[in-house]
Amino acid sequence: MAKLYFNYSTMNAGKSTMLLQAAYNYEERGMRALLLIAAFDERAGKGIIGSRIGLQASAVAFEQEADLLALITELSGSGEPIACIFVDEAHFMTRQHVWQLARVVDRLNIPVMVYGLRTDFQGKLFPASQELMAIADEMREVRTICHCGRKATMVVRLDAGGNVAREGAQIEVGGNEKYVSLCRRHWDDAMNGEWTAERA
Ligand SMILES: [Zn+2]
Repeated sequence: MAKLYFNYSTMNAGKSTMLLQAAYNYEERGMRALLLIAAFDERAGKGIIGSRIGLQASAVAFEQEADLLALITELSGSGEPIACIFVDEAHFMTRQHVWQLARVVDRLNIPVMVYGLRTDFQGKLFPASQELMAIADEMREVRTICHCGRKATMVVRLDAGGNVAREGAQIEVGGNEKYVSLCRRHWDDAMNGEWTAERA
């Protein structure tokens, strides 16, 4: 049976790199992997999944209004059967998108591997991440570390001046802000004033 997998972590843990490696493994074996990414994430170029270590691959870009079950049904109607679907930046999806992917798993019997952030810079779950935590078949944490060596599970947003943002939109794409992944203790310190730009 196909499953819906949620691979989650904080920023800069290497999720996109893992996605690209896993997709490559399918293609190397002659199996078709379908890559998807939200259309408004254009940091690596529209419809491109890029990783910090330089790997990239083209993906199908979908709009916020897209019906992923309909889109994938259409794409699976031509060419080789789709062996696995990979979705990057899952936190940019809507809750409806998550359910559409669940239906792809259940009705089309295609495994779906979703990669995304668990929480935003204020420590709140993204809507899609909350939905994924509720209904995914399997969840896997992609790990990275804080400057202190503990597991980083949180992220702070820094503005151009290196100041910690405590308010603002949950999603900002293409701005000058920078994100730093921290353990819960150091995130708590940063959000409560004990933070200097030099440590970033
Ligand atoms: Zn720490």
